[in-house]
Amino acid sequence: MRVLITGAAGFLGSHLADRFLADGHTVVGLDNFVTGHPDNIAHLMGHERFSFLRHNISDFTYVAGALDGVLHFASPASPIDYLQLPIQTLKVGSLGTHNALGIALAKKARFFLASTSEVYGDPLVHPQPETYWGNVNPVGPRGVYDEAKRFAEAITMAYHRFHGVDTRIVRIFNTYGPRMRPRDGRVVSNFIVQALNNEPITMYGDGSQTRSFCYVDDEIEGIYQLFMKGDSNPMNVGNPVEFSVRQLADIVIELTGTKSSVVSKPLPEDDPKVRQPDISRARKILKWEPAIDLPTGVGRTIDYFRGLMGTDRMVSE
Ligand code: UDP
Repeated sequence: MRVLITGAAGFLGSHLADRFLADGHTVVGLDNFVTGHPDNIAHLMGHERFSFLRHNISDFTYVAGALDGVLHFASPASPIDYLQLPIQTLKVGSLGTHNALGIALAKKARFFLASTSEVYGDPLVHPQPETYWGNVNPVGPRGVYDEAKRFAEAITMAYHRFHGVDTRIVRIFNTYGPRMRPRDGRVVSNFIVQALNNEPITMYGDGSQTRSFCYVDDEIEGIYQLFMKGDSNPMNVGNPVEFSVRQLADIVIELTGTKSSVVSKPLPEDDPKVRQPDISRARKILKWEPAIDLPTGVGRTIDYFRGLMGTDRMVSE
């Protein structure tokens, strides 16, 4: 297969490119480096089955040659990023998704949307099955991301129903691992980078809010299987084991052996109180479930960030 991956220099996009290349497929990567980083794809430069376009998918996009798949992974995805890039976030979820769907339609390619657990907002149903419609504040600070992704899901289904495009929608829950930006503001990267630098560990609120953290290799395998053998209905892909933010801080402190201590910071507006995927559909249809537990994955992520110690990336990003 020859596939286009938007956001290919991002955290998930770059791992996804690796996964397709490992199976012998050809990848065209596209990124504008707004939140992606060239380091994430440096190892692919010169690969005979990888090519790269520096481009913003929210603008009209021309890709030469046949394509079998279009995987739309371009978007700011960290809360601090989409607060700083609210218009770009709305555009890449709406105009970017429209452009990517247009490419899939023109090329008769399968389309794959990277959606998010944020479509459930601050959920009133727990854990969250795909049939839950969510509890989203459209005008709150997270609305730019949540509503863009909800629109993206709606237009993906419209292309499926109206144009007959073969489509997939994955709802990605909190994922972590190597190639996250050190200072992207998300909880796992923040805690590890703070711990390695012996800075205070910033726990927002009392740390009782929960997330279910999936190691990147598990997430990518679920996504790859969904692309290959799933159907057009949205599918949760994430790790269903739930932790409080306080528990995560304890794990990071233990595994890094840091001198840092936890400091409490204000809880951001509309921060979801709980989040846990119901992955029954993925288990049944993909025969997939995560294999890597949190201490193991956090250990690997610590090793990655240790390798960046002393570089500009630890400070400036
Ligand atoms: N969080 C925290 N300290 C940080 C960063 C995040 O306590 O330095 C909390 C945040 O309030 C949220 C959870 O960790 O409850 C996960 O935040 P993240 O930004 O990783 O993603 P979210 O799941 O909120 O989109």
